[in-house]
Amino acid sequence: MKCPICGKPADAHYRPFCSKRCADIDLGRWISGSYRIPSDEPEAPEPKRQES
Ligand SMILES: [Zn+2]
Repeated sequence: MKCPICGKPADAHYRPFCSKRCADIDLGRWISGSYRIPSDEPEAPEPKRQES
C-alpha cells in the first residue's frame, strides 16, 4: 500500500500513510474540505436560524 499523499510505501504505524506528517496533511485536507466549499461554486449564504 502506498501513501496517498506522497506515494511512498506506507508505514505500518501510520498506514495508509508513510508518516505522521502525511497523516496530518490528509487530516488537514479533510477538515478544510468539510468546512469549505470548492472554489468553483459560488458561496452560498448560510441559513439563518430564527429564534421564535
Ligand atoms: Zn507520505
